[in-house]
Amino acid sequence: MVKGNLFILSAPSGAGKSSLISALLKHESSRPMQVSVSTTTRNPRPGEENGVHYHFVEKKTFEQQIAENVFYEYAEVFGNYYGTSSAAIDEQLSQGIDVFLDIDWQGAQQVRMKKPDVTTIFIAPPSRKELENRLRGRGQDSDEVIADRMAQAQSECSHYQEFDYIIVNDDFDTALTDLVTIVNNQRLKRSQQTTVYQDLFNDLLAND
Ligand code: 5GP
Repeated sequence: MVKGNLFILSAPSGAGKSSLISALLKHESSRPMQVSVSTTTRNPRPGEENGVHYHFVEKKTFEQQIAENVFYEYAEVFGNYYGTSSAAIDEQLSQGIDVFLDIDWQGAQQVRMKKPDVTTIFIAPPSRKELENRLRGRGQDSDEVIADRMAQAQSECSHYQEFDYIIVNDDFDTALTDLVTIVNNQRLKRSQQTTVYQDLFNDLLAND
């Protein structure tokens, strides 16, 4: 069986990354796909469920898990810890599931060191103004928080050159098509196709 592919999607908050990922998961696919559920010390937002959107834990628990080497990568973002647990990912990849990590540039750097064949995708908003509109449109945050998030967004965007692919999320459907194309591109690589179609090539090359 061919192992699953690992993908990283990074974006400044407000670029539409979460919506793109959930649309991708609903899209028709030749292989199973899952988004990794991260662990975080931040408080749940309205509508977020423990174990579905994140594993919400206390800072003390997170630090204990760091010491126990639970995490593939972890980082501090907006003053909270976020981390990806190794066990869940390795299990999914070995079952042939394509795994998507929704993590920041710091996490992307760590995963790249451990798994050089990871495919990394940066999602950008179409403009700074539109990014700010989208952040305000959520209606959840104060002006101070928005200003802070805009500064964080700039810091996230400053790492765009480290990624394999860039998607500009102006028109949502176009961005989704771009994302599906990148995923299929990875799956169609010779290294994967020769494993999937080993019997076919044995047959095509048989002398009878
Ligand atoms: P939010 O609090 O809005 O859900 O996420 C804030 C930021 O943390 C996003 O950029 C998101 O990609 C990032 N993030 C979420 N989970 C992880 C993780 O497990 N590791 C790292 N490094 N970043 C994460």
